[in-house]
Amino acid sequence: MFDTLSDRLSGIFDKITGRGALSEKDVSEALREVRRALLEADVALEVVRAFTEKVRERAVGAEVVRSVKPGQMVVKIVHDQLVEMLGEEASEINLHAAPPVAIMMVGLQGSGKTTSTAKIAKRLSEREKKKVLMASLDTRRPAAQEQLKVLGEQIGVATLPIIEGQGPVDIAKRAQNAARLGGYDVVMLDTAGRTHIDEPLMIEMEEVKRASNPHEILLVADALTGQDAVNVARSFNERCAVTGIVLTRIDGDGRGGAALSMRAVTGKPIKLIGTGEKIDAIEAFHPSRIADRILG
Ligand code: GDP
Repeated sequence: MFDTLSDRLSGIFDKITGRGALSEKDVSEALREVRRALLEADVALEVVRAFTEKVRERAVGAEVVRSVKPGQMVVKIVHDQLVEMLGEEASEINLHAAPPVAIMMVGLQGSGKTTSTAKIAKRLSEREKKKVLMASLDTRRPAAQEQLKVLGEQIGVATLPIIEGQGPVDIAKRAQNAARLGGYDVVMLDTAGRTHIDEPLMIEMEEVKRASNPHEILLVADALTGQDAVNVARSFNERCAVTGIVLTRIDGDGRGGAALSMRAVTGKPIKLIGTGEKIDAIEAFHPSRIADRILG
């Protein structure tokens, strides 16, 4: 995902790291190139601006030009600023609430929402020994409820029995009742998507949220869609205050802009990343590891 950006940055830093002295002009020139590389990687303009401004402040404050290894110092400042932009600490799903803990999954159609629901359910049941119930609230796409049921059978996680004709709010309530009665720790609500954001979708999300009072609202966004993914996240966050982001298709050859902008634009942490089609292909998001990868 970050290969092109990584190549660009190492090209920029190669020019300055070997040198014993750097002028302020050298630092400014390098930062201008960093800015260009980030914009080409599809990072949101506002994020790039804030990023380069902070790096500049730190670089000047740290008296880079007078230090012994000024180039390395600039790289370290960029690294630290990247980590800050990505959200510092890895933050996993929060289950600190009375069971059954409701996790509501939201996002556009095709973003990987249903797959991510199953991936997270499997992760929670295997790694944390949680008893998980999944329910599909997608009554629009005919095969959606069936898709989750099949995934549940594959991974050995229970799904709420399908009742034809029931609406999303009623399914959510039934899922929570079933979870309570069945002694489940977690109930995952896989909501309906659309090809784009529209008012009926947002109203439906608000109704489901009101009815189920979820402890986590995870937005699933496709990293390959770059700036669009960030705009989608902004809209969902404004309407239903998401608690975290699951960024899918990190394994694809996108430019990385979504991953780099998401946290800064929404203020919400990327909690997990989807790294492939397989049901195990999900990982915690570690900002420092991503920064290391980008800076080689
Ligand atoms: P939904 O419409 O948002 O529920 O999307 P789906 O869960 O049905 O996923 C759409 C497609 O994306 C499926 O073919 C998934 O296998 C694929 N997919 C989901 N997450 C990832 C990921 O992290 N990496 C890759 N390569 N494919 C993914």
